[in-house]
Amino acid sequence: MWSSELQQTIIQRCAAAEYRLQEPLSRHTSFRIGGPAAIMAFPKTTEELKLLLQGAAAAGVQPYILGAGTNILAPDEGLDALVICLKDALCGIRCLDETRLEIYAGESMAKAAVFAKNHALTGLEFAHGIPGTLGGGVYMNAGAYGGELKQIVESVTILTMDGEEKTLSGEECGFGYRTSVYQKLPCVIVRAVLRLQTGDPDVIGQTMRTLMEKRKASQPLELPSAGSTFKRPEGYFAGPLIERAGLKGCGFGGAEVSKKHAGFVVNTGGASADDVKKTIAMVQSRVWEASGVRLEPEVRIW
Ligand SMILES: Cc1cc2nc3c(=O)[nH]c(=O)nc-3n(C[C@H](O)[C@H](O)[C@H](O)COP(=O)(O)OP(=O)(O)OC[C@H]3O[C@@H](n4cnc5c(N)ncnc54)[C@H](O)[C@@H]3O)c2cc1C
Repeated sequence: MWSSELQQTIIQRCAAAEYRLQEPLSRHTSFRIGGPAAIMAFPKTTEELKLLLQGAAAAGVQPYILGAGTNILAPDEGLDALVICLKDALCGIRCLDETRLEIYAGESMAKAAVFAKNHALTGLEFAHGIPGTLGGGVYMNAGAYGGELKQIVESVTILTMDGEEKTLSGEECGFGYRTSVYQKLPCVIVRAVLRLQTGDPDVIGQTMRTLMEKRKASQPLELPSAGSTFKRPEGYFAGPLIERAGLKGCGFGGAEVSKKHAGFVVNTGGASADDVKKTIAMVQSRVWEASGVRLEPEVRIW
């Protein structure tokens, strides 16, 4: 019922908006897991996004927001819901002045980092190898190799679920380790302003290459995953704790603790969301028994 009502709204109010019915989430998640979303919409402008949110609110539907799906475990049975996918849809990057970039949520972090390098701006090198979008990065306060978005976000513009636009300062984003205020505030991150510093493009490019080499050497990039499955517990690293518990290569069905990096649960082929969830629960309980440390998933379970 709700989906035909919402489809009518999209057709009437927002005819240009691209949407698909029964779109497999597995096509949009780096785990390659997830059944169909009843409606998946791909708004290309803030106005289209606003109309979609207003249509969803009128139909009594709370949408799921998808970036590149690189930190999501989606359900095997799919979602009887509206999923709004921003990756490669709500895009755009521009220089506001000598050191500030405005980046839309659907833009990839890799592209943003290369754009910054090409404009002789340093500060975004850490994000070059993070496979998500800017919106997902802000939501997660993504970080690597000593950098995190918290350090460079000047402001974030959002739409509330009823389509009202608001801008929050970096401080108001409540950034912490892999967290932000957006994990509690129902809204869509539309764009952000990043404050960088001027630098030498050759040095920036070299740093990006070095970090990518480190990633390739240590992470199981050849298999589908959602990156580090668990947050770093205070005073420890998840990978060594899991390895010490003897769990490399263990798992359920097609899901397995990576043999290359124990911090990653990988899909070795045909893994279901249930296989991954069982593997996560098994790792949590075995690490607790072996080390007395509680591991908390970093991956968002839908
Ligand atoms: C191989 C690999 C390596 C990785 N390495 C790193 C790393 O080094 N550091 C790191 O921090 N992460 C890493 N990750 C995890 C992931 O890439 C990051 O968390 C990334 O920021 C997620 O972005 P995304 O666009 O894929 O978000 P998604 O996975 O699509 O979404 C993640 C969460 O953000 C929400 N969200 C996404 N976009 C928006 C938006 N515009 N508005 C509101 N909510 C939104 C979603 O609803 C969801 O809850 C890695 C993942 C993989 C697969």
